[in-house]
Amino acid sequence: MELFNVGFLHVTWIDLLDIVLVSVIFYKLYMVMRGTIAAQIFVGLVLILVFSIISQAINFKAMNWILRTLTDIWVIAFIILFQPELRRLLVLVGRNRVVQMFLRLDTEESVDEIAGAAAELAKKHHGMLVVVVRATGLRTLVETGQSLQAKISKPLLVSIFNPRSPLHDGAVVVRDRVIEAARVTLPLSHTATIGDVVLGMRHRAALGISEQADAVAVVVSEESGTISLADNGVLIRGLSVQDLRNELKSRLSSPQDKSVKSIWSVLKAHG
Ligand code: ATP
Ligand code: MG
Repeated sequence: MELFNVGFLHVTWIDLLDIVLVSVIFYKLYMVMRGTIAAQIFVGLVLILVFSIISQAINFKAMNWILRTLTDIWVIAFIILFQPELRRLLVLVGRNRVVQMFLRLDTEESVDEIAGAAAELAKKHHGMLVVVVRATGLRTLVETGQSLQAKISKPLLVSIFNPRSPLHDGAVVVRDRVIEAARVTLPLSHTATIGDVVLGMRHRAALGISEQADAVAVVVSEESGTISLADNGVLIRGLSVQDLRNELKSRLSSPQDKSVKSIWSVLKAHG
């Protein structure tokens, strides 16, 4: 299996493969993090590592002690600092086609009810925020709201989002063909503006949940009556009812759709 020798080093095919794999992983990581805050943190960590190697070589005793303590807590610091990125990575793994084959829900029938409700609420300028979970549930979030477990229907959605209804505030969570809860508080996205447009709380909440969970969020603006959809950290604004229906159908019917995209291409688009 030996390929060639460099001095005392025996290089085999396995070593070559190992090097290629590690290079690809590091390159992909770099591409994903380029231009984000995570990249700056990452550079900082690498610098500390390089510095500690140098100081060990020159044998700075006190400096070594400081750097050793730093590298001891490195793993914990890494998890804390990269918590949003790690979360996202795990969500994307769950979004993988093979995993989805086992977890697939029949959400398609809800699409018409949601699109119908969005059309009516948009006309009346009533705000709406509906989260449709794809595979993984949102139990901890659902618990922040009012549990309903009601069969989804357009009239029910329209009545929930009537501004006089006690349940209109916050988000509705839909799973399969069931409205699990209303008045749910969603995590806000850190994105506060898109271009020159300042996002309100409703839109930021929709974006936030689409970043953190495997879910699609539909928003009807109270101010403008426009319909928007957030999926995978991207907010698409100004949809017609027909657009909304098409988008929801293609995004919620999993296996055959374009989600053949690798985890990396998804990450790269929104990293
Ligand atoms: P609109 O275009 O409808 O005005 P907006 O994006 O400008 O929407 P706001 O005007 O700030 O947003 O809307 C406030 C409403 O958004 C609240 O009444 C509440 O129902 C909802 N909301 C705000 N924060 C959250 C949250 N964290 N989770 C769920 N819903 C929220
Ligand atoms: Mg507003």
